[in-house]
Amino acid sequence: MDLGIAGKKAIVCAASKGLGKGCAVALAREGVDVTIVARTAETLEATAVEIRNSTGVKVIAIAADITSAEGRAKALAACPHPDILINNAGGPPAGDFRQFTREDWIKAVDANMLTPIELIKATLDGMIERKFGRIVNITSSAVKAPIDILALSNGARSGLTGFVAGIARKGVAQNVTINNILPGMFETETLRKRSEAGAKMAGKTFAEVHADRKKVIPAARFGEPDEFGALCAFICSVHAGFMTGQNFLIDGGNYPGTF
Ligand code: NAP
Repeated sequence: MDLGIAGKKAIVCAASKGLGKGCAVALAREGVDVTIVARTAETLEATAVEIRNSTGVKVIAIAADITSAEGRAKALAACPHPDILINNAGGPPAGDFRQFTREDWIKAVDANMLTPIELIKATLDGMIERKFGRIVNITSSAVKAPIDILALSNGARSGLTGFVAGIARKGVAQNVTINNILPGMFETETLRKRSEAGAKMAGKTFAEVHADRKKVIPAARFGEPDEFGALCAFICSVHAGFMTGQNFLIDGGNYPGTF
């Protein structure tokens, strides 16, 4: 299927690795020029070279913290009129909610709620004027089925989800959509770090904990960033202008409910 987005421009946040990279690669394969953002310049540059060499699109690498005002300004200066915006950032730490301080909460809300809101604010009206826009927020399956040790993520991402539900219809008549993708467990560095932390707490090996996590997934495997990217690219396609304000769960069947 031709997704019809060749020549469009995208900002993909937190995209040197994992799910953000999966989205950047999938968009680039469709001929979209991508501005990718991450904090570590070396990894980011390596990803930029990889995407450029494998797809031939224009790739701009912005080494910046997207959760800071300066970082967002740098990304927007590099790509002032994006047709596509993929919001993403690192997730907050796990732990007992009793141990989280006000500072921890502000950091989580800043990264996983206010940063995407600021970027939507900066880009939505231009997309409406140009009569095309796709905004995709990477959230978490924890929005649908909260995970007790991820209180910061449950709270901050649900806040973003509520905000998106309220504004997702503002531009749909002008072909601008805003949707969320909710990842279950995907084989990325973040997932492996969580398994490492779980192993330490339980006095088990990383391999045991990682395998145990996989066992609960009906698909009997973790998701791959590439398949996450493919869903993202479809939601950004010209074929997806009739869906907005939706939450797309991609979790190998892990969520057991009907809706
Ligand atoms: P990952 O493989 O560890 O990659 C994270 C990416 O984000 C890296 O490129 C990292 O680069 C970048 N990044 C982190 N903080 C950033 C910041 N402040 N500014 C700019 N770039 C930043 O992680 P992932 O698994 O793809 O996770 C992506 C998001 O999905 C996270 O919010 C995570 O909590 C959520 N999620 C993941 C899963 C899963 O199973 N993987 C499940 C549910 C939710 P630098 O460190 O160099 O900045």
